[in-house]
Amino acid sequence: MTETRKLIIAIDGPAGAGKSTIASRLARKLGYVNLESGAMYRALALKAIEWDTSFEDEAALVKLAHESRIELEPTLGGNRVLLDGRDVSQRIREIDVTEGASRVSVHPQVRAWMVARQQEMGKNGGIVMEGRDIGTKVFPHADVKIFLDADPEVRGRRRLEQQNVKGASAEALAAELRERDRRDRTRAISPLVPAADATVLDSTALTEDEVLQRAEDMVQQKLKP
Ligand code: C5P
Repeated sequence: MTETRKLIIAIDGPAGAGKSTIASRLARKLGYVNLESGAMYRALALKAIEWDTSFEDEAALVKLAHESRIELEPTLGGNRVLLDGRDVSQRIREIDVTEGASRVSVHPQVRAWMVARQQEMGKNGGIVMEGRDIGTKVFPHADVKIFLDADPEVRGRRRLEQQNVKGASAEALAAELRERDRRDRTRAISPLVPAADATVLDSTALTEDEVLQRAEDMVQQKLKP
């Protein structure tokens, strides 16, 4: 029996589009590993907060990154995130870290460090990696590229429904989402754009199951002999 090829699947898109849910469900169905690249930016932002390092100080952030151990452990319920051996999975979802992740991610050298780590983590395939630049920068030759989008109001509502967003009002969340979007889409390096060969899926009017089905269809298409 020939072994099935282990694909690299890239899922990009703005916050609240449903990437994490789809990535984790798709990975589970395929027996793949799901890696949340955003969690790595979040872990670095948390370290910067704890070490009193400015989000604007690129050189200091890169040094901090080199001195840190950031690990993603895929579990059924998403990634467990370890920072220097400590479980920070919950803490990195809080609003100060979310804002920090968006700010540390604009720096080219921070991104270069992250991208190199992510390429290493996914190089053997059998992964669904989600983020903002997976199909454009991390794995430009990914087998399947999905750009998952949705209307801003819908994304805001979904974010609010996520139980793990602590201590935030609806207005604060909507404002945070808008600002993160703006920063992600306008940054000089690796702005959030669909890769030229990505399939854009707008999930505004689709159920989670419908989005998953489309993603699976794309994967099956690729796996055909
Ligand atoms: O995906 P998540 O919301 O956890 O990402 C947190 C932040 O990290 C994003 O707002 C974005 O600025 C940054 N990010 C990035 N590139 C990625 C993943 C996340 O710039 N591949």
